[in-house]
Amino acid sequence: MSILELYIHIPFCEKKCNYCDFVSFHTNYEVIDKYMNKLLTEIEHKAYLAKNYIISSIYIGGGTPSLVDKKYISFIMDSIKNYYKLDENVEVTIEGNPNSLTNEKLITYYESGINRLSIGLQSANDEELKVLGRIHTYNDFLTAYNSAIHVGFKNINVDLINGIPNQTPNSYKKTIRQVLMLNVKHLSVYNLIIENGTPFKTMLAENKITLPLESDMLKMDEITKELTDYHRLNRYEISNYGKVGFECRHNLGYWSDVPYLGFGLNSSSYFEKKRYKNKVKLQDYMNLNFEKYLYSDNQESYYDEVKIIDEIDHMNEYIMLGFRKTSGINIDDFKERFNKDFEEIYAANIKYYQSLLLLCKKDKNYFLSEKGLDVSNSILSDFMISK
Ligand code: SF4
Repeated sequence: MSILELYIHIPFCEKKCNYCDFVSFHTNYEVIDKYMNKLLTEIEHKAYLAKNYIISSIYIGGGTPSLVDKKYISFIMDSIKNYYKLDENVEVTIEGNPNSLTNEKLITYYESGINRLSIGLQSANDEELKVLGRIHTYNDFLTAYNSAIHVGFKNINVDLINGIPNQTPNSYKKTIRQVLMLNVKHLSVYNLIIENGTPFKTMLAENKITLPLESDMLKMDEITKELTDYHRLNRYEISNYGKVGFECRHNLGYWSDVPYLGFGLNSSSYFEKKRYKNKVKLQDYMNLNFEKYLYSDNQESYYDEVKIIDEIDHMNEYIMLGFRKTSGINIDDFKERFNKDFEEIYAANIKYYQSLLLLCKKDKNYFLSEKGLDVSNSILSDFMISK
């Protein structure tokens, strides 16, 4: 049986962070209750799609899933267990913010079968947290982290951001050191990107924030490399580091062409040669009648977008995502999927980037070097095949 991943989107947050352009917002209990019930009907009534698949991972993301009443998370887990076939080692992650991950919620998550936590810390410096518009302190994180360990969670990811306004390499070093001292098994480190439509975009235009210099950003990347190496967290993707056996199975699936079904507002699915984008407007999503999905003559109307993936799209996506992993692309796997020779199709690019030491080959895998990962965007755009 083929494997399939599930993604569940909970779009609510207590307050919007200054850098965030995700589909997430603050709302009241009534809206949350209606949304969660709609989400449950979607999970139940699309289950038939997965009848020939076994679920290898589930990711409950947001927004802030830890914000909603713990009973909804139990309901989601019960529904998935009732209607889907789960792998006996299924990885189940929930995202949470330090101030809403209470001990009671953590116990419920653990008892419902969730076995991985992803905590959005972002910085261990309270001043930097304020600048980001976060509503927790480092101490809140420590309380949540220690409770999670106490409850029994062994697989915990911590999210960090670097490049925060006014952040220095030294303050970043302090943050990552403090986190690694906790013996975390997995770390995600993202460079801050100033996205359109965010408060940071306006603040930057009005000179109200100052971003670290490019040279300082490079120093922060060096610090990440040095300290994760020291603590034996392997970089297995551009922004992700894990101890052996703690790499995120769900994300590795995304980067390795594993199909997935997304549930909830604005979630995406990649399933049987099509990409689907769920409704992005809350009212549109709430108006859907998932009870009728199975028998609908127009299932496409349940989505904002449905795109057929032809072979060129598929190859481009495979390259784009595969090269994010430090293990890169396996030529036998490429051959099996596309019945084409990777070294023949990309011969000119391979030669060029190997000569610049940005692309390496080991056994049957091509992968970007450390330097190549830092400039991956321009390399990947060269590998794209146009139609
Ligand atoms: S908690 Fe996460 S999803 Fe919510 S506003 Fe902040 S960054 Fe965005």
